[in-house]
Amino acid sequence: MKAVRLEAVGSIALREVGKPSAGPDDLLVRIEACGVCGTDRHLFHGEFPCKPPVTPGHEFSGIVEAVGAAVLGFSVGDRVTGDPNIACGRCKHCHAGRVNLCSNLNAIGIHRDGGFADYVVLPQKQAFLLPADLKPTHGAFCEPLACCLHGVDLAAIKPGASVAVLGGGVIGLLTVQLAKLAGATTIILSTRQASRRSLAEDIGATATVDPGAADVIDAVAGPSGLVPGGVDVVFECAGVRDTVEQSMRLARAGGTVIIVGVVPQGMKVAFEPFDLLFRELKVLGSFLNPYTHGRAAQLIASGAIEIDRLISRQVTLEEAPAVIANPPAPGEVKVLVVPGQG
Ligand code: NAP
Ligand code: ZN
Repeated sequence: MKAVRLEAVGSIALREVGKPSAGPDDLLVRIEACGVCGTDRHLFHGEFPCKPPVTPGHEFSGIVEAVGAAVLGFSVGDRVTGDPNIACGRCKHCHAGRVNLCSNLNAIGIHRDGGFADYVVLPQKQAFLLPADLKPTHGAFCEPLACCLHGVDLAAIKPGASVAVLGGGVIGLLTVQLAKLAGATTIILSTRQASRRSLAEDIGATATVDPGAADVIDAVAGPSGLVPGGVDVVFECAGVRDTVEQSMRLARAGGTVIIVGVVPQGMKVAFEPFDLLFRELKVLGSFLNPYTHGRAAQLIASGAIEIDRLISRQVTLEEAPAVIANPPAPGEVKVLVVPGQG
């Protein structure tokens, strides 16, 4: 079969490799689509720990081609999505239910071979059924949606709440949609690219802000802003210093800030601890997708999430190495690798 191999930091290529086989507890899944994520680019540049050689790709779904002898509840021909984050189940975090913080996390597409290939091996406990009539490309969105769901769960949005989302990549655009489903009635997205702002307004944002043209804090939380005094919940989904700093000033007194964006390790930001105290802000990190992958699959299956407009282009396995090795093109939201079309 064909697989995109990260052979060393800075070296990625399409290779012919042996087709894997399913162990007793595994499904062998023929990949229908696998999303390219910023993490794949970080792996290529050596900015995220992994042990090459490995096949990246952790946002995948496909069709079960074979099942191991001990597999229950899945059959050949089923469409499935995989939760790539395999927790060890034995460390103190796993025992306390904090599986996303597992000390021995073993992630498909990072530590073991992933979905930029014709086939992937998926342990049955990581697999979730998708409907037979779902568009084959939609299952690839379960993983990013599951990460956004964790953030929205932590925020405990109440119906009628006001929300600001900073960063209009796929994570921000999915978070806008989840905030709407959670009952928020004011949803403000700040992102620089005009095409993303108009897309966000089509799929749930009630207002957008161009951080290059306006002072975001004034425009949102200022006396004549969209929500004077600040919003109930802020989602930081850009992972840059400006937005992290803005996030704590956009929340109302007693409000909640959810840090979803991955800032570069070691980066420092300025904030006033007095603000946290005097305005009783809650600032929470949201990491990965603990127990949310199944609900993400349900949401995608239900059609409640706009997916097609988030897909900027579909590429072949042959084209995938260059896509991963280069920065995203302007305006691009999500690129999907679709095997078998090359
Ligand atoms: P992305 O496509 O890079 O989206 C982030 C966007 O933020 C950028 O494309 C950019 O869009 C916008 N941005 C940059 N500077 C900004 C500014 N000053 N103000 C407002 N917006 C700004 O990435 P993504 O896939 O959506 O992911 C978003 C972040 O979440 C990344 O850091 C990613 O690593 C992280 N992530 C976290 C988890 C988790 O479990 N916590 C899971 C997946 C991803 P414009 O050019 O339009 O401004
Ligand atoms: Zn563990």
